[in-house]
Amino acid sequence: MQIILAQPRGFCAGVDRAIEIVERALDMYGSPVYVRHEIVHNRYVVDDLRQKGAIFVKEIDEIPAGSITIFSAHGVSQEVEDSAKLRDLPLIDATCPLVTRVHNEARRGERDGNQVILIGHEGHPEVIGTSGRVEQGVLLITTPEDVEQLEVDDPEKLTYVTQTTLSVNDTRDVLKALSARFPSIKGPDLSDICYATQNRQDAIAQLAGMVDLLLVVGAQNSSNSSRLRDFGDKIGTVSYLIGSADAIEDEWLIGVEKVGITAGASAPEVLVEEVVEYLKDFDKTAVVEVMSGIEEKVKFKLPSEVLTKVL
Ligand code: SF4
Repeated sequence: MQIILAQPRGFCAGVDRAIEIVERALDMYGSPVYVRHEIVHNRYVVDDLRQKGAIFVKEIDEIPAGSITIFSAHGVSQEVEDSAKLRDLPLIDATCPLVTRVHNEARRGERDGNQVILIGHEGHPEVIGTSGRVEQGVLLITTPEDVEQLEVDDPEKLTYVTQTTLSVNDTRDVLKALSARFPSIKGPDLSDICYATQNRQDAIAQLAGMVDLLLVVGAQNSSNSSRLRDFGDKIGTVSYLIGSADAIEDEWLIGVEKVGITAGASAPEVLVEEVVEYLKDFDKTAVVEVMSGIEEKVKFKLPSEVLTKVL
């Protein structure tokens, strides 16, 4: 068996930053620190931080008065931010800067008098956060077919923004449908799809065609990991999204000569290593190689609250 690792794969700069924020907050302010929502969509990461003293909650009102409060990488609505401020909770914002950029674009669109259309997946925390940054609310669409159903106030006054972790190809089709129906619509083209999502999808476009089986390491609720699996499916390569090596079924591997492995932006490398070990155990002659690809050097600035103790 030949095992080919996608390049790039795994952690992005937004996830690295969010995890570092929680770790630094624990070091500087002591445990517990409270994190609203899973800091990133990965059980391994969440359990590790929980062990170090982080407490994950669904809602702000579960956080005791005066406790350090961290917003997850997915971002929060204005209402959540206001309710934390109203309670005077010491806040640290781990929202990925690329998500904050989308919030700002959506708000700018609204300030310019436009109705805001958000391309994304209903129920995803990033979509809930972005929707909740627009006072009048957004019109949420996911597919080109949804564009037909849209009822807008004024076709000349529209802005669109997108969830950061969508599939570039699917989004392109939605954008085409939007501009065909509303030629005056304004938006950021495809640049809101983040660099990490784009790079991981580009790597899979290359890798999926070279292998018989594609394993995507990531959580079932991770949007960018699901898109990577969908990508493999679309190319016609048998593809599975697995939380860890435990999810592999040996019958998937029978007769397989080339296995591609990638990991979503919130999946740590240690989980990839465990998958590789599992495959090497299944086939003792298996060889591992890393495909050539982009070396990411993106790094986001940390918030001031975890650089010096100010809370
Ligand atoms: Fe930020 Fe992109 Fe990572 Fe999401 S996938 S946290 S938008 S860098």
